[in-house]
Amino acid sequence: MPFSELKVALDAMLSSVTPAVAHILDAALAGEDIAVDDAEKLFDASGADIPVIVAAADHLRKKTVGNVVSYVVNRNINFTNVCVKGCGFCAFSRGHLAEEGYFLPIEEIIRRAREAWELGATEVCVQAGLAPGMEGWHYVKLCGALKDALPDLHIHGFSPEEVLYGATLTGVAVRDYLASLRDAGVGSLPGTSAEILVDAVRERISPGRIATTAWIDLIQTAHELGIPTTSTIMYGHIESSRDKAVHLGILRDIQKRTGGITEFVPLSFVYEEAPMHHRKRLPELRTGATGAEIMKMYAVSRIMLNNWIPNLQVSWVKEGPKLSQIALMAGANDFGGTLINESISTAAGASHGQLMKPAEFRNLIREMGRVPAERSTTYSKMKLFDDNENPIDPLDEVENPQERFGSYQELIRLKDYRFRDFYQSQKRS
Ligand code: SF4
Repeated sequence: MPFSELKVALDAMLSSVTPAVAHILDAALAGEDIAVDDAEKLFDASGADIPVIVAAADHLRKKTVGNVVSYVVNRNINFTNVCVKGCGFCAFSRGHLAEEGYFLPIEEIIRRAREAWELGATEVCVQAGLAPGMEGWHYVKLCGALKDALPDLHIHGFSPEEVLYGATLTGVAVRDYLASLRDAGVGSLPGTSAEILVDAVRERISPGRIATTAWIDLIQTAHELGIPTTSTIMYGHIESSRDKAVHLGILRDIQKRTGGITEFVPLSFVYEEAPMHHRKRLPELRTGATGAEIMKMYAVSRIMLNNWIPNLQVSWVKEGPKLSQIALMAGANDFGGTLINESISTAAGASHGQLMKPAEFRNLIREMGRVPAERSTTYSKMKLFDDNENPIDPLDEVENPQERFGSYQELIRLKDYRFRDFYQSQKRS
């Protein structure tokens, strides 16, 4: 087929777009904010509407953030998997008597952070289960100890659920607990425990989870105290198009009020090991997002949030490097972190590994015709790699990462950090 015929076919596809979708895209491309109702319509789109929505999102991405795709060199430390909650989607948490329950002491967390720092990491991401028997100021003490040991390492840590847990255990107000974390050196909070910010959905997939209003209040309070946060969604389970659109609307409203959100990260549900998948009590439960849903998630997020949250991150742990590259064509401009260790998605059945080396990021980004850049956590610093410059980072040179950094499977079998031992010592003290 000659190119001129292809052009005719593409024109025909454009003119066959559903009028309501065309109208919404018109407004978005003119720089307007689209309404929650409009986002719902885009999530419901099918057929030829999908590639056109994706093209519009890619166009907005290019206009707003250009061709740079960033990544951060970081290490994830999920310091305990023991949790008092039982979220239906979470295959990571264990009960306090479980053989596989672990709890990393502060010295081991510092050792891991230092190892990452020496290999070029600029951030440590610290999140974990809500361990019973834990001292309420533990998160603050951990932050302080990390800062004392590694003053220039950014601490991206403690989900809203963890902050609320710390505040509850200590009996102080959330604002005061957040201020203590800030004073101890936390640099930013992950905007996780959001899943879908619609209580009717939360009550079904994670009863007892932090409520929507409490999540919003906590995130806004963090921003007011000068602590930026990321923002997330977990989709591909029981939520509707409306729920996703409402969620995006909530995030956009927070950002309009505070400006404290650094990025938005869509996380698709990994179902394989999720308790709610095995229990079969939710008849409408899906087995994760389909390819079309993933593309629409990125594209609609870009269209909905473009004027307010310019950074849209792909999760290579959930989607794998191949689909992540495709998501870069649907509005995304960030590849996330090197991670080094990853437990939560791995426990749920994700099989994309636990480390992405900086050189791998650069290659994947360049393959898509984009420009790689290493960023700081909050995007305030960017180191561009143009002209095919491809340095060898210390992390690129690690030959057997699993042996060097340990794996999640190994961690849950190790005798050294058994939660039961920690729990007994807490009870004795
Ligand atoms: S998602 Fe977090 S709070 Fe919920 S069970 Fe898992 S570790 Fe606990």
